[in-house]
Amino acid sequence: MPTFVYMASCDGCGHCVDICPSDIMHIDTTYRRAVNIEPNMCWECYSCVKACPQNAIDVRGYADFAPLGHSVRVLREEAKGTISWRLKFRDGREKNFVSPIRTTPWGSIKSASDYDVPSRDALMSQELAHEPLALNIERLPALKRSQLVQGIL
Ligand code: SF4
Ligand code: SF4
Repeated sequence: MPTFVYMASCDGCGHCVDICPSDIMHIDTTYRRAVNIEPNMCWECYSCVKACPQNAIDVRGYADFAPLGHSVRVLREEAKGTISWRLKFRDGREKNFVSPIRTTPWGSIKSASDYDVPSRDALMSQELAHEPLALNIERLPALKRSQLVQGIL
């Protein structure tokens, strides 16, 4: 289910714009408020929901599979470090979920510029940046040559 913005709650801070991996959260140039410009390209990752300090972003289903009468409401509570989801079904049933916004302390994630500049060898490696260090392992698991079998058994 893609997201949408309550323009009356949004203050145009742009956090959702910065975090959206699909680059579909934009600031409307007239109203200076965020808007999801392409809901059908939404990854439904809800990073924007978790990032919005104003609780201005909500979620709605496509009309073809989410019938009228249902609702999904999201509440971000930074002081508690939680994000709560309230799902209401058309028949009146309600489900509530509470999850941590993140599992590590605020401010503890290093930005890319805090890491050393990668060596030229790193460009030839199949490892992603800062692997395997960032995964807290010594090396990435790999199959030995003897474990590779050619053809169909
Ligand atoms: Fe972008 Fe994810 Fe928010 Fe969709 S849910 S608008 S992809 S940040
Ligand atoms: Fe508006 Fe929230 Fe996006 Fe900030 S993060 S621009 S308040 S919708």
